Amino acid sequence: MRVLAFGCHPDDIEFSAAGTLALLAQRGWEVHLATMAGGEVGSPDLRPQDIRAKRLKEAAASAEVLGARYHYAGGHDLEIEYNQALRRQAVRVLREVDPQIVLTHPPTDYLLDHEETHRLVRNAAFIASVPLFDCGLPTRPMERIPYLYYWNAAGQADIFGRPLPVHFGVDVSSVMDTKVRMLAAHESQREWLRFINKWDAYIENMKEGTARDGKRIGRPMGECFLQHRGLGHPTDNILAKVLGDLCVSLEDSKGGTK
Ligand SMILES: [Zn+2]
Repeated sequence: MRVLAFGCHPDDIEFSAAGTLALLAQRGWEVHLATMAGGEVGSPDLRPQDIRAKRLKEAAASAEVLGARYHYAGGHDLEIEYNQALRRQAVRVLREVDPQIVLTHPPTDYLLDHEETHRLVRNAAFIASVPLFDCGLPTRPMERIPYLYYWNAAGQADIFGRPLPVHFGVDVSSVMDTKVRMLAAHESQREWLRFINKWDAYIENMKEGTARDGKRIGRPMGECFLQHRGLGHPTDNILAKVLGDLCVSLEDSKGGTK
């Protein structure tokens, strides 16, 4: 019972999937958070290596709110690309955690860093069980291909401004305090945005996005997901089994989206 949320930058997971992770943690799941990048451009004045050191600590503190572990996959902000070095890093994280469930970015999002992370994590979820794929470290291949889910795009829209055809949403109304505490652990980003905007835009933006997903499922607060149902991955919805009524389907009987 292990779930891995694998995002691009420190704080992406907190915006899009932390509530679902909190619900899984409440139900006894071991939770892991990972990021491809280290937050190197997230400061107006610090050097990249200094803001990265700070942000990796903030990401670990956020994970700690859930009693979770944080993993850094070694990439840099605005330099994430689908290449061999990062393919290996993504597979290394997958093999180290060996999760039953993986959550990551959707295939379309406002930033190419996110889309490349999607490709890297999606690929890693599929090939981490291939024994002859060498990730550069003596890791054990995964024994199964995990359930794979994509959280909603930032701003709840694809690059053409359209809503994503999400399959279901998770009602996270009961764990919003936890979601806020996780995001607030990213102090450097919160302070930066507060300085620029003159209000607590960081936390409020997250609440607005979570409320938009909530509206889609008719609940106060929500997190919407697509499930990867391609060949090889399990296609039943384990999140619906684990979370019961909190998981609200958005599919109609013909497989379309409501
Ligand atoms: Zn990001």
